[in-house]
Amino acid sequence: MALLEVKHLKKYFQVSSGILHAVDDVSFTLEEGKTLGVVGESGCGKSTLGKTIIRLTDPTSGKVIFDGKDVAGYSVKEFHKVRPDMQMIFQDPFASLDPRLTVTELIAEPMRIYKKGTKEEIYKRVKGLMDMVQLAERFANSYPHELDGGRRQRIGIARALALHPRFVVCDEPVSALDVSIQAQVLNLLQDLQKELKLTYMFITHDMSVVKHISDDIIVMYLGQIVEKSPAKELFQRQFHPYTNALLSAIPVPSLHGRKEKILIQGELSSPINPKDCCRFAGRCAYCMEQCKNSPAPPLKEVSPNHFAACHRVEEMQDVLNKAGG
Ligand code: SF4
Repeated sequence: MALLEVKHLKKYFQVSSGILHAVDDVSFTLEEGKTLGVVGESGCGKSTLGKTIIRLTDPTSGKVIFDGKDVAGYSVKEFHKVRPDMQMIFQDPFASLDPRLTVTELIAEPMRIYKKGTKEEIYKRVKGLMDMVQLAERFANSYPHELDGGRRQRIGIARALALHPRFVVCDEPVSALDVSIQAQVLNLLQDLQKELKLTYMFITHDMSVVKHISDDIIVMYLGQIVEKSPAKELFQRQFHPYTNALLSAIPVPSLHGRKEKILIQGELSSPINPKDCCRFAGRCAYCMEQCKNSPAPPLKEVSPNHFAACHRVEEMQDVLNKAGG
């Protein structure tokens, strides 16, 4: 069953030179207990998409149907009741944690704000949460600056889980961490998902991270979805040149499996007052006149539940079918 349905969501910002289309007509469905990976380069709108869904910023238009109710139009007061169900884990735990609070106070904060029990009950829950995120009790009275990045991110995870959410936006939760710690935190997130039946939206620029934890993936380019697919299928075949380039950048540990890295060259279009044509046209090696002079291609289903937005999608289908892909 779908826990989250996002329909034609837009988030525009007025800037001095025009209107910045950060999220532009994004739609997808996310089933309960699943993980949706959201990938794309920095500035593609993926973090703004996450923040708009959980109303850290208000949408310009569109629907966010959570558990059957459109929460996009909720007032601040109405959304306050939904907030415990929809939480976020931030990229930089250091920046998102108040340096004046101890670990215990930081984890207790959401429960204090929502008045979830007596002082004793809250501190008992803090102990349980520290145990859940594998943060040793000896750190209970430490301050964030006394801990390493992995432990700080565990505080961020415990805070996000404090109010028993159903949906968690994980915004680049491991990209600021050392590689060895990244794996530990990813494993922890996966274990917690199983244990607590969480639904994740996992935002990252790193395709190798998203590969192992996503059920479905959406690829974003300048505020729009250019490809969406079940994760396994996307790693087998891609129909959009941008996805193809992103995947070619994943390091392959075997010499025989080595794939030529596709360099994305050319001019990046501006997200401010964008022209109604394919936004990847300035950087695409397959660009034709039509790509620059006709409206942006819509997402088209290329195989079951696999969609791509490209004028050359049929040609790509032929090539992949002939190659047996
Ligand atoms: Fe490239 Fe044209 Fe497809 Fe855009 S529509 S990705 S420019 S081939």
